[in-house]
Formats: sequence, structure tokens, C-alpha cells
Amino acid sequence: MPKEVYLSGLFPQEISELLGYEKRWRADQIYSWIVKARPDFSSMSNLPACEREDLRLRFGDLRSSRIASELEDPDGSLKLQIRLRDGSAVECVLLEDIEGRKTACLSSQVGCPMGCTFCRTSQLGFLRDLGPDEIMEQFYFLKEKRGFVSNVVFMGMGEPMLNLPAVRKAIALLSDPKGIGMSLRKITISTSGVVPGILDLAASGPKVRLAVSLTVADPELRSAMMPVNRRWNLAVLKEALLAYQEATGERITVEAVIIGNKNAGKEHAKILADWVRPLKAQVNIIPWNQVPGTDNTAPSAAQISAFVDTLEAQDITVVKRMSRGRGVMGACGQLGDTLKLGNPST
Ligand code: SAH
Ligand code: SF4
Repeated sequence: MPKEVYLSGLFPQEISELLGYEKRWRADQIYSWIVKARPDFSSMSNLPACEREDLRLRFGDLRSSRIASELEDPDGSLKLQIRLRDGSAVECVLLEDIEGRKTACLSSQVGCPMGCTFCRTSQLGFLRDLGPDEIMEQFYFLKEKRGFVSNVVFMGMGEPMLNLPAVRKAIALLSDPKGIGMSLRKITISTSGVVPGILDLAASGPKVRLAVSLTVADPELRSAMMPVNRRWNLAVLKEALLAYQEATGERITVEAVIIGNKNAGKEHAKILADWVRPLKAQVNIIPWNQVPGTDNTAPSAAQISAFVDTLEAQDITVVKRMSRGRGVMGACGQLGDTLKLGNPST
């Protein structure tokens, strides 16, 4: 993790300690500007000009990262490519739905070490974890561009459970009643099935919504498509999910990416239904988005509807996730199309 500290990942108390301010209210003022997604010290208009200049001299920039490119989809989704201070890059997306929700899809790592065979991010490999400041800056960039963000999902690049300290700090900042004040119910962590992370969250919180990327409930096929299954198998994963449900009382989201030539058959829907049944869960069906350089094929509309019908016939609650952001390759799981990690010239 980079050594420098930037103010965007700090609480007022920490800002105050860092600045050596005796007047804590000055740190509160700075924090309130950060929370409003102001981009720099010069826009903090209730600070004396000399203090703004002093901050600029001490810290350079308010934020550690910058927007490298912006892509807008005709459906209104916005994808930002963020250049980090070490020259590497991540992406984040704002998805708007018809109910007016504006969901920020944030990255937690540069690349991802989990190796799922259908995921674009996995092809990039893994470079490093993001710091809390770098996670929060993705949120602030999206908020600055679109004025308001109602929900946050950790479904961008990376496996959030492998970077829990930074993700926890970001969640604490997002839900701070004196800051952004987002309800924990509007924050979702999506994991490929990193069991120690799920158990840690169940034991120590925060009690955010949990989504698990199950995709297949056939042990051999899951191990082939998602190496995480070799470390924590389906039985161990289900136990952890039951513990999480016990701790939070909330419904879990089970995500299933449907790939035409892998797991789209009715027999797969049946195995999935049996696996999910003991959980209080809803299943999100995600049609696989094309990733070049793999042997996977996109599912047909008929395959998807047969899959959904089979699940519903087994009394499973199903949501077919909108594929918003496809036009900008911004649908979750497809991030990284134009990125070369760690190469500042891209
Ligand atoms: N690493 C975490 C969170 C980021 S991935 C996880 O795996 O849960 C976010 C979601 O995108 C996961 O549910 C993943 O299964 C899905 N996904 C990955 N590649 C995809 C693709 N090519 N098309 C559609 N969804 C994909
Ligand atoms: Fe990582 Fe999630 Fe992609 Fe798997 S699906 S490689 S865990 S980002």
C-alpha cells in the first residue's frame, strides 16, 4: 500500500491530528467539504485564503487520484477510469435505475488475484490493495459528476474480502452520520466466497448487505471456473452464509453469472436451487458479458429465461439483473477493458 496519507480517507479527528490543529472545528470544516465532494482545497470557501494555501503547500492535492477518462452510456451509466498516485489504474461505475437509485460500483483492489475464468478483471492479474482514501475518491468522483449517490456496491475490480481493513474504513466513512450518512442497508459487499472474510464480518460487522458470487453449485465445475472453490468448498461457504444471516437477519444475494456453454442448462438451475434453498436468499441472474480471450459464450435470451423459469418453479426468488453500462463495458465484472495495470501511459 502506498505510504502517503490523503485527507479523503480520514475522519475529522484524524485530520485534526494530522494537521496539528488545536481547533478541531477547522478539521470539521475540511471534512464537510470533502463529504460534499469538493475537488480541492481552493473550493473550501469558509477557510481563510492563507489556510487554504497552507493546506495546498503541505499536501499538494486534496485527492491522491485523478480521473483519466470518462465514458457515458446511452442508458445514463457513467464509467470512470481512475489513475492512482503510483500510476496504476482502477475503474468505477455509476449505474442509474428506473427507481431513481444511483448506485456506485467501487473497486477494492488494483486487479484481482482470484482467477475466475470468466472475468475480465482476473485477466489483468493482481497489483495491490487500494487504500481507504483511494476507495473513497472513487465515490467522490462519481458524486461530483452526478450530484448524488444513493447506494454503494463493492462489485468493481478486486475481491473486497481480501482488503477488509480498507473496505471497513471506507464503509465507516460512508455511513458516518456526521458525514455522508449512508445507511448500512444501502451498502453491499460482493465476494467470490472468501469464507474468513464472511465470518469476520458476521462476528465484527459492519452489518452491510452481502452478495456472494456463486455462479455454479456443481463442485467440480465451480472449482474449474472459480479457483476460490478449491480453498473454501460449497459446504463451508454455505455454513458461513448461514452464520452471516444469523448475525444480520438480512436476506443474502446469490449472484449467478450465466455462461452459454458452461452453466446455462436446466440441470444447473436445479442444482443451484437445491443449494440456495436453506438460505434466505434472492438469486440475481447475470447474463455473462463478453470477455475476449476465453472459451466462454454469451447465453441466449432463451437460455436465460429457461434458467429463470426453472429456478422459479423451485420457489426460488429470482432477480434478473439489468445489464446497464454494457455500452461502456462498465457492467460489473467487465471492468478493465482498456486498462493495463501499472502502466501510466494507458
Ligand atoms: N470480486 C467480487 C466482486 C467483484 S466482481 C466478486 O466476485 O463477487 C462483481 C460481479 O461480476 C461478480 O458477481 C462476478 O461474478 C461478476 N462477473 C465477473 N465477470 C463477469 C462477466 N464477464 N459478465 C458478467 N458478470 C461478471
Ligand atoms: Fe476477482 Fe470477482 Fe473477477 Fe473473480 S469475479 S476474478 S473474484 S473480480
